[in-house]
Amino acid sequence: MNITQTEFVQSFIDKLTTTFGKTVDEATNKEAYQTVSLLLKDIILRKWQKTQNQQVEQDEKQMYYFSMEFLLGRLIESNLLNAGLLSTCEEGLKELGFNSDKVFIEEHDAGLGNGGLGRLAACFLDSLASLNLPGHGVGIRYKYGLFQQKMVNGYQVELPDYWLKDDYMWETKRSDKSVEVHFGGEVLLVSKDNHLHVEHKNFERVLAIPYDVPIVGYENETVNSLRLWSAESMPNSFHFHSSEGHDYYHYLDYKRSVEQISEFLYPDDSYYEGRLLRLKQQYFLVSAGLQSILSRFKRKHDDFFLLPQKVAIQINDTHPSLVIPELMRLLMDEEQLGWDDAWKITTSTVAYTNHTTLVEALEKWPIDMVQSLLPRIYMIINEINERFCQSIYYDHPELRDKIAEMAIISYGQIHMAHLAIAGSFSVNGVAKLHTDILKNREMKNFHTIFPERFNNKTNGITHRRWLMNVNRNLAQLLSNSIGKNWIKEPRELIQLIKYTDDASFQEEIAKVKLKNKERLAEFIQSEYDIKIDTQSIFDVHIKRLHGYKRQLLNLFHILHLYQLCRDNPNIQMTPRTFIFGAKAAPGYHFAKQVIKLITSTSDKINNDPVVKDKLKVIFLENYNVSLAEKIIPAADISEQISTASKEASGTGNMKLMMNGALTIGTLDGANVEIRDMVGPNNIFTFGLTSEQVFEYQQNGNYRARDIYNSDQRLRVVMDKLVNQFFTYDDVEFKNIYYSLLYNNDEYFVLKDFDSYVEAQQHVEQTYRNQKSWLKKSITNIAHSGKFSSDRTISEYANEIWDIHPL
Ligand SMILES: *Cc1c(COP(=O)(O)O)cnc(C)c1O
Repeated sequence: MNITQTEFVQSFIDKLTTTFGKTVDEATNKEAYQTVSLLLKDIILRKWQKTQNQQVEQDEKQMYYFSMEFLLGRLIESNLLNAGLLSTCEEGLKELGFNSDKVFIEEHDAGLGNGGLGRLAACFLDSLASLNLPGHGVGIRYKYGLFQQKMVNGYQVELPDYWLKDDYMWETKRSDKSVEVHFGGEVLLVSKDNHLHVEHKNFERVLAIPYDVPIVGYENETVNSLRLWSAESMPNSFHFHSSEGHDYYHYLDYKRSVEQISEFLYPDDSYYEGRLLRLKQQYFLVSAGLQSILSRFKRKHDDFFLLPQKVAIQINDTHPSLVIPELMRLLMDEEQLGWDDAWKITTSTVAYTNHTTLVEALEKWPIDMVQSLLPRIYMIINEINERFCQSIYYDHPELRDKIAEMAIISYGQIHMAHLAIAGSFSVNGVAKLHTDILKNREMKNFHTIFPERFNNKTNGITHRRWLMNVNRNLAQLLSNSIGKNWIKEPRELIQLIKYTDDASFQEEIAKVKLKNKERLAEFIQSEYDIKIDTQSIFDVHIKRLHGYKRQLLNLFHILHLYQLCRDNPNIQMTPRTFIFGAKAAPGYHFAKQVIKLITSTSDKINNDPVVKDKLKVIFLENYNVSLAEKIIPAADISEQISTASKEASGTGNMKLMMNGALTIGTLDGANVEIRDMVGPNNIFTFGLTSEQVFEYQQNGNYRARDIYNSDQRLRVVMDKLVNQFFTYDDVEFKNIYYSLLYNNDEYFVLKDFDSYVEAQQHVEQTYRNQKSWLKKSITNIAHSGKFSSDRTISEYANEIWDIHPL
């Protein structure tokens, strides 16, 4: 779309007048934001309709990405960037007297996700559209996204995230596409005309209304859709019998219970909570999503054997794995197909992505819950299970003694990962190491039966948002040096390798980084009234707070450095600024205590004159996509220090690397592939390998206390948790201390402490040699192209979905 700045300014003034009846001088930043998005939406909507018509006309295969989470962040800038209007709009706003930064932040982050899994879904949508691929998102329009974190006296307090307060500019309500979803009731098998029919009675009816969000491709003609479903009650379906008035209250109960379904996102990351409402949300997403896909399919086709040629369904973890029995139900009960045909079609349409092997995150629903909420679905899962166990018994006699542990239903529970593997044609892990762990350990027996189903798709991030948009100066520098090809072909970033030793290029890279650090420092100064040294190492640890991500290990290193300062106030130390951002699930007490320990450490260190600005610790409130966008361009060091084998991939590691930060990390998830790309000299690795972690777990011969006893540094640091160093009582951090010493340190924090400290010393030495540091930084940027989600999506498209650019 080519519009000039003059045209933009004129359209802006017109739109402002017709929408708000205001002049430019009277308009607030919010009104300016709304005006820009309305203008942009006019342009997008035209393309959107064209894409849709074309996709229907050409009847190309479509992919639907089912996910309980889409962590979109703001769309204004990425939509402007992709539509080719970002600089026109920014210049135009300036001409009109607005500051575009202040205008754009009027958009409230769409926080419909917890962390990596939800952000991955958002990056995938951006890449699908940018590669002209017919791929769409299917999710839930939660009224409240992930909670807002407010820090009060160093503690996390959760506030509701009412992101729809000011209307969401990008969505379009499509009442005409509504469908019904049914819960509860009884299922009867009745014989009619010599056929067994399924009759479902006395169910609760829920109306599912879709809200579509356009997903704009980068400088192309494609606009795909993210369809977010909202639950509403159906007044007409409710029978008001008597005049006594009781029914009215029953109706209110019903309405309340229905509206709850799309009320809020569960704030848990890598943890499973077997709550009824969550199950309801999952079935709501799956049933509404499938019905709308099938109704579109039926407009062109009546042969359901064609479905796998026209539709691919990817499920983002097991959360939407009820697509398998629900598709079976629709094909059998609504379309009258037999079991074998329906099964063939279903298992050729659905593909499953595994995101974790953490036991505490594996979904297992109690039988009674599924049976009473979804009686027909339960019958189908039961039949799938019977047939699956039989097939192991007859076709794989060598696995007969493993049937109980492989069953979909066992010990009163339904194992959703087992259902997802049995009912799909592809099972992928999200990094090489993680896929190997699936194949050789966690899902070994399934791999024996279905070796052809298992494959790897290493995660990626959209370089358009995470480099071009958040780090404009770096993007400009890259284009000036190697041309603009890398934008369409991010692997072209490898051209930078020829500049790694180029003194003037190094200097330019250093300038860009310094500018970004100054911007972040200004933000921290204005929001937190803390002055930070832009010459210090910006050491960044941003991600959800979880035991396995080991924010605690980082803290112990910080407390160790602090102790060195106390012991020797004149110690030579390259100044460091440690930056944390993390939300803890509201019910995860350990994680919340770690947050409090970070803020307490921050108070101690930042206010201790002995430290003399050698160390600063900053906890930034309310970590979300927009905050990540502020921090990442300014990072020198990227903390990726999970217990090996626990982080399936990580994507924060990729964003930081792409912005020139060096990784300090374990050989876990995609860190392994980052090291493979940049070489061991351009990353700081340390700690146990996943094999060593497995060995300890198997042999049970890890003794955390022995390490505590033998490492003086650790003893000094850990004792601070219980010797009134932080507080007058010694209760506050006792749990953390106990989890390490009495519960034997599940995540091997003590075990990895020594090698982590050593790796951090290596970081400091390297930073003192700026030339060597910049060379490593450039090398990281040069190799980051592999981690563009464009590469990931091309692999999914070719190797799983079989979809093609329009
Ligand atoms: C990228 C991202 C994540 C994932 O980070 P990891 O370090 O991979 O856990 C989580 N939250 C937000 C807001 C992100 O942008």
